[in-house]
Amino acid sequence: MRNLLPLIWRGNKERYRLFGSVCETCGQEYFPQRRICPACRRKGKLVEKQMPHEGKIISYTLVHSAPAGFELESPYHLALIELANGVRVLSQLADSPADKVSIGAPVKMVFRKIFEDDDEGAIAYGYKFTVIGEAPKTVAAQKQQKTKPGKPKK
Ligand code: ZN
Repeated sequence: MRNLLPLIWRGNKERYRLFGSVCETCGQEYFPQRRICPACRRKGKLVEKQMPHEGKIISYTLVHSAPAGFELESPYHLALIELANGVRVLSQLADSPADKVSIGAPVKMVFRKIFEDDDEGAIAYGYKFTVIGEAPKTVAAQKQQKTKPGKPKK
């Protein structure tokens, strides 16, 4: 499985440049790409579209036990991000210290190494998001109480 991943990811525009779809009939945008607009069905016409590269954190979790290939980066934050067009994306956060990661914090897409496979010498690149500012204070304070992850175990 691991050996297949770099081949799958290479040339995948969704991974590299955040390409999604937009329905020309109703204007709804989707990521990952779709072939059928659930709202328009047969009347829908989906075309490829570049998603906005900025958004904000909707929720997040701290991942302690990383999957194979991600060990060096453990622990890391996995965040649900709402892009500027309202589309939600699940992504790893890069260069984002724990004290900057909060609900509502603005983020932007960065292009980073996703994992390295020592056996094959394969390196996969793709998008991650990085925190670029602070969350609006009131929103962060309200929502963090419910979703704040525990302290890392050492
Ligand atoms: Zn549609």
